[in-house]
Amino acid sequence: MDYDVKGNLRRVLDDLPKEVRLVAIGKYHPNEYIEAAYEEGQRIFGESHEQELRLKHETLPHDIEWHFIGHLQTNKVKYVAPYISMIEAVDSFKLLREIDRQAAKYDRVIRVLLELHIAEEETKYGLTLDACRQLLEDGEWLELKHVQICGLMMMASFVDDEEQIRAEMMTARHFFDEVKAKYFADDDAFCERSWGMSHDYRIAIECGSTMVRIGTTIFGPRIY
Ligand SMILES: *Cc1c(COP(=O)(O)O)cnc(C)c1O
Repeated sequence: MDYDVKGNLRRVLDDLPKEVRLVAIGKYHPNEYIEAAYEEGQRIFGESHEQELRLKHETLPHDIEWHFIGHLQTNKVKYVAPYISMIEAVDSFKLLREIDRQAAKYDRVIRVLLELHIAEEETKYGLTLDACRQLLEDGEWLELKHVQICGLMMMASFVDDEEQIRAEMMTARHFFDEVKAKYFADDDAFCERSWGMSHDYRIAIECGSTMVRIGTTIFGPRIY
């Protein structure tokens, strides 16, 4: 391994206020990279592909909390349901209902975040603010006993313009406050704001992030 994973991890952790948690994103990196971060004390890891996650879950220590951070197809939910700690990118009621259905089979409650689409890029997944309001207003989610909506997740546009990134993250921040007040005022579990990646996590912290998802800065460039 020609990458100083442990040193990089320590530097990132030194940057984070203690109330902000790190989800280390090891996608496309081999187990030894994740093991190095694990030895340094990191326990929350994120992956975005179901098959890769399955292999890693089977071969890496079992006290790792796995977050699914990518677009999860409904037909893949059954594979992650037995063990996933959090599904971060829920962008439809259909997916939410399927997570509930699979979690019920294992007598689990799976924690999820609703993914917002705020960035300008068209390829990104996620709910528009109006679609998210609609999903919550419909109220069907209240009947799902095996999912717990713990907050919101978003990716800002991949641009150099810090002001644009900041504006998008503040939109997410204000939207969090809106839905928290309207639907989750009495629900302490609804508390997570997952924004910030390698290139923009410092801005994210200023914009109220509680959870940053960082890959490249810790593990180096990915080989696709
Ligand atoms: C890959 C990925 C990250 C991490 O990106 P880096 O730029 O490597 O830090 C964060 N969030 C999501 C959803 C990702 O797919």
